[in-house]
Amino acid sequence: MNEETFKRIKQLTELQATSGFEHNVREYMKTQLAPLVDKIEQDGLGGVFGVREHQDKQAPRVMFAAHMDEVGFMVTHITDRGLFKVTSLGGWNPYVVSAQRFTLQTKQGDYTCVSSSVPPHLLRGTNQSGDISIDNILFDAGFESKDEAIAYGVRPGDTIVPKVETELLANKKRIVSKAWDNRYGCAVLLDALQTVKDDTLKSTIIAGANVQEEVGLRGAKGSTVLCQPDVFFAVDCSPADDLQTTNGTFGHLGKGTLLRILDPGFILLKGMKEYLLDTAETHGIPYQYFVSKGGTDAGAAHQMNTGIPSAVIGVCARYIHTHQTIFAIEDYEAAKEMIVHIMRTFDSSTLDTIKRMNG
Ligand SMILES: [Zn+2]
Repeated sequence: MNEETFKRIKQLTELQATSGFEHNVREYMKTQLAPLVDKIEQDGLGGVFGVREHQDKQAPRVMFAAHMDEVGFMVTHITDRGLFKVTSLGGWNPYVVSAQRFTLQTKQGDYTCVSSSVPPHLLRGTNQSGDISIDNILFDAGFESKDEAIAYGVRPGDTIVPKVETELLANKKRIVSKAWDNRYGCAVLLDALQTVKDDTLKSTIIAGANVQEEVGLRGAKGSTVLCQPDVFFAVDCSPADDLQTTNGTFGHLGKGTLLRILDPGFILLKGMKEYLLDTAETHGIPYQYFVSKGGTDAGAAHQMNTGIPSAVIGVCARYIHTHQTIFAIEDYEAAKEMIVHIMRTFDSSTLDTIKRMNG
């Protein structure tokens, strides 16, 4: 991985944007997409897509979509003591919420805050060690009272997003950051567009990122209507399950891009499956099969318009939906290769073959 790619990953993963409040990432994406595409489209909820227009209007429209949002929280109530009750935006394991640093985003500015925790001293003689729920974790920005919090611009509906620095780890093969789900998708699509910048492509390429994936694949609906793709690729990150064993589990760091064959809202159809397998085999791209308990935007997008052949180009990462996610650079490179080859080679006969095999 070159310096420039690491810099992009660091910038994107340190940006703070939870569901419905993606503006920080949206601005970044628009700026970075602009020199790589012919035009930028934005849907009504804030999804942004760069379009590389093919001169032939009949050429296939191939859409790649990451998502900009990361899991976070929303302030629902300011207590008299100036702390905040919250509700989660996206899925959180309550055991990873306490004792972390966050940024509270208000109309008057961003403030550092932390999630409350109970010192061991105060647990002595109580039975409180086990039960943790987000309802009884408060967020604390250091305000002395409700009035003071309000004076600093805090209001219900404000967002709270993890705050953490991205670092390259000792072996230089892995990175720790927050929000690899799904700044991975944002980074790899910019990277791929840059790689094919001077190539003549055989289809219209639409690449960018949806909003509100983490709260139920909401952004993918409007964006697919806007972009009218013939095929749709979600580009997303999934949980690795490889700490104790790789026997019978899915998502192993360093073993290549994920070929998602099934999740609760999506089935990889024959045409797309054979196409992706053929692309990976032909170019020697490492891949691993993946069966998921969670969904991606492919789950929403494939049901849109008249039914859009879809797939997911994934990577896995350990400890997703926390402040500290670890992922492998080689998986990122494998996924990037996959996307670059699709961008370079997808043409009308590819589309015909995919549709025929599905039929
Ligand atoms: Zn997620």
